[in-house]
Amino acid sequence: MSNAKNLSWQDALNRLKEGNQRYVAEKQTNPNNNSERRNSLTGHQAPFAIILGCADSRVIPELAFDMGIGDIFTVRVAGNIANTASLGSIEYAVAHLGVNLIVVLGHESCGAVTAAINGGDNGYNLNHLVAEIVPAISASEDASVNAVVRTNAEINASQIVSRSPIIQNAMNERDIRVVPAYYNLGSGEVDFLGDEVA
Ligand SMILES: [Zn+2]
Repeated sequence: MSNAKNLSWQDALNRLKEGNQRYVAEKQTNPNNNSERRNSLTGHQAPFAIILGCADSRVIPELAFDMGIGDIFTVRVAGNIANTASLGSIEYAVAHLGVNLIVVLGHESCGAVTAAINGGDNGYNLNHLVAEIVPAISASEDASVNAVVRTNAEINASQIVSRSPIIQNAMNERDIRVVPAYYNLGSGEVDFLGDEVA
């Protein structure tokens, strides 16, 4: 079911980087955002990248990468955590849509990370979500929010692989990469963090 014509992770990463550069420079082309594009995709979809991002209203992957309809498969949850629901969504795009690049996009001043650092009782559901971020605090070089954000993106990039036999299987069959990244709120610039996972 995978689409053999899908972009390599290298080409996909370059396409995201170029889109982010247009966004930062306010030179967006707003691609693939018209009725022709909508109508061409009524029977299928073929996104070239998966983004696991935060629900934060200021961090909008389609805008940050200057992308349009059908370009990126975006999964958003506070703290960009790889939990059962977000992983299941990512698995669908890897196994059935043939996507070869996954970006975990943390961001400056993340409220979910701040809540994990501050501790306290936020109620059943939010406590469960915040608990997924806690391991990043001790693993981080320092306990500042933005350092933990980076570590949290790296840990969740690793967990996308370690928690998913489906993604592990796909990685055995073709070249797939998971890349942690950090979004700067003011500039809109995305920093891709270090070496890609796996
Ligand atoms: Zn956030």
